[in-house]
Amino acid sequence: MTDTGELTGLRALVTGGASGIGLATARLLAGRGASVAVLDLDPSGASAPLLGLKADVCDDASVREGVAEAARRLGGLDILVNNAGIGAQGTVEDNPDHQWQRVLDVNVLGMVRTSRAALPHLRNSSHAAIVNTCSIAATAGLPQRALYSASKGAVLSLTLAMAADHVREGIRVNCVNPGTADTPWVGRLLDAADDPEAERAALNARQPMGRLVSADEVAAAIVYLASPAAASVTGTALAVDGGMQGLRLRPA
Ligand code: NAD
Repeated sequence: MTDTGELTGLRALVTGGASGIGLATARLLAGRGASVAVLDLDPSGASAPLLGLKADVCDDASVREGVAEAARRLGGLDILVNNAGIGAQGTVEDNPDHQWQRVLDVNVLGMVRTSRAALPHLRNSSHAAIVNTCSIAATAGLPQRALYSASKGAVLSLTLAMAADHVREGIRVNCVNPGTADTPWVGRLLDAADDPEAERAALNARQPMGRLVSADEVAAAIVYLASPAAASVTGTALAVDGGMQGLRLRPA
């Protein structure tokens, strides 16, 4: 990816930006010239030029402080990437209420809290954009993912509703729907298997392209949606899933 400098002068905040898709996005935004702050439970993975700030998207005071600090240090905010999220496996019978509450708190309310804190700053920008990291789970009907899918379904609806609410203010709101992306999160799931290498091979074989999506590929889509190049794009969900949802391939 070349450094085009097209985002020079823009100021971006990425939640969950110290690992995986968020870190790749933060680095790409910075590579294109933006000033970038990262809000994360553990910001140690976000090194210079990224500004790492510790915050928990489940804690409203922590989010408000983190967003205010980012806006103060960067001199305002133009781009918010709501990316922090956690996974959950199982059917509705497998997850008790407290697990539902925990995942919805991080994956949905986390985006609500960060957006609420960032909107007053975004209103002062002439290139304001929010990009939410959703998932193909929002619409795919994946087995053993009831809670995670419901949380991402809410993210998709939230994206569309926010796009409508803020379009006249010049604030664009979109989301990306990654397929299975090769991040530390997926690495942890594979490491927990009896035979991680065989599990990775089987996972790759289930993908239409025979491989996982990379974090950099998802980041490229997020950065496009955040950039002035997408000035007329709002209320969309861009799939970066190697064709998983669109191609309707049957196993050979
Ligand atoms: P990851 O675990 O590598 O990174 C997630 C980051 O979010 C971590 O740095 C973590 O510290 C941070 N985080 C978690 N809870 C937080 C909280 N309460 N407050 C602040 N930060 C918090 O995961 P990833 O795979 O890069 O996933 C990032 C996003 O992409 C998530 O929203 C996930 O649902 C979505 N997604 C991932 C995949 C995939 O296959 N990896 C597929 C579709 C969607």
